[in-house]
Amino acid sequence: MEKGALLYEGKAKRVYRTDDEKLFIVSYKDDATAFNGEKKGTITGKGVVNNRMSNMICQMLEEEGIETHFVKELNDRETVVKAVQIVPLEVIVRNVAAGSFSKRFGVEEGTVLKSPTLEYCLKDDALGDPMINEYHILALDIATEEELKAMSDLTFKINKILCAFFEQVGVKLIDFKIELGRVDGKIILADEISPDTCRFWDAETNKKLDKDRFRRDLGGVEEVYQEMLNRVTSRR
Ligand code: UDP
Repeated sequence: MEKGALLYEGKAKRVYRTDDEKLFIVSYKDDATAFNGEKKGTITGKGVVNNRMSNMICQMLEEEGIETHFVKELNDRETVVKAVQIVPLEVIVRNVAAGSFSKRFGVEEGTVLKSPTLEYCLKDDALGDPMINEYHILALDIATEEELKAMSDLTFKINKILCAFFEQVGVKLIDFKIELGRVDGKIILADEISPDTCRFWDAETNKKLDKDRFRRDLGGVEEVYQEMLNRVTSRR
């Protein structure tokens, strides 16, 4: 597998073409940003944790019948993934109120929601990733009605599997963000699942084991990323 031209550089990853047009290589960086890029920093070892953890979770999801972009881990930071057309939406699932949801609706962080909920944000840094609803998505021709149904069904299914998985390692899955991609007429999971993109709370103590430690300057950032990788590794 030959690494080709840099296709895209994001805040936390680089994506390269390969000699196979159906495959890309993703390379995870230690760079961290929050609040739409306003806060910048480095979390040493984050790229390794996110690469390895995300790959283990993708393999676990595949075993549960969920198609993902994962193909093959190349090394600590790099993975071969399927080339997909990313649907430009952040799909956010919440089981427990936190972050922007708590702020927007005045619900205390930690409040268990009566049912899991889903929201979409438009992936557009210049606009600050605004929240968008299903009618907007249809009106702007971002996805079809069939795709919306496929995306929400897939996302809730992933939530169920992830909640059960993380429960086994003593972690509550508070909320998370995924991105979905189109390949061969299907919608598949096409981005990382890591402490950058999920809120993880220790089941016993509610200690935050995710990027909120960086966002909120809580300290021990590197340690909790490592701890999450260790917990996930212990189950795989
Ligand atoms: N999230 C993400 N990328 C984003 C925005 C949110 O991965 O650009 C994740 C975040 O880590 C959390 C969930 O989505 O697990 C919900 O985030 P929220 O809307 O509460 O935003 P925040 O409070 O992080 O600004």
